[in-house]
Amino acid sequence: MRVIAIDGPAGAGKSTIARALAARLGLQYLDTGAMYRGVTFAALRGDVPLDDTEAVADLSRRVMLEVGDTGVFVDGVDATAAIRTAEVTGAVSKVAANSGVRTEMRARQQQWAAERGGGVIEGRDIGSVVFPDAELKLYLTASPRVRAERRVAEAGGDVEEIERAIAARDHYDSTRADSPLTEAAGSTLVDTTGLSVEEVLQHIVRLLEH
Ligand code: C5P
Repeated sequence: MRVIAIDGPAGAGKSTIARALAARLGLQYLDTGAMYRGVTFAALRGDVPLDDTEAVADLSRRVMLEVGDTGVFVDGVDATAAIRTAEVTGAVSKVAANSGVRTEMRARQQQWAAERGGGVIEGRDIGSVVFPDAELKLYLTASPRVRAERRVAEAGGDVEEIERAIAARDHYDSTRADSPLTEAAGSTLVDTTGLSVEEVLQHIVRLLEH
């Protein structure tokens, strides 16, 4: 099984790089953040209180998630745009801190890779917890301002406001008890500040050759 794990904080360029790297290597790509967003969307839609950890964990075990090239479907509903709204983004870290949810998502991610002989998988705990034996583990980062500017270029908004929201989410994700965002042992730090997508890709391809 060939797994490339890409972790890092919000807006570091993980999705862009992971997608392009997967295409270059002939592997499939999995956005695990979209899975946590999908569970959050389902909880909000079903009026499941996010503080009710058992109810949310239970929901995560029942929900049908399809995360792929054609979009993100939650129980058959196209939620591709809805999982990126401020409402979901503001709630997802709480859902992702739920251990029952994480256990379920982890199992689904491992099964996804097993069925495909691996893949390029991005998230927060991929190299540290989900695939500690990945062929290559990358920790992508960039300065907070650049990360906020990238988000604004994609989806609009006020840079300072987005920078504050990103910092709050990163803090929540890094300080939770279960599989916090961290640089995994054996991972390579790639600071994408000031680098083009192609430059980052070339750097990663060189790392794979060694
Ligand atoms: O990558 P994205 O920003 O879409 O991730 C949304 C949220 O999902 C993160 O802020 C984090 O709370 C959670 N997440 C996680 N573990 C992963 C991927 C995402 O906890 N492997």
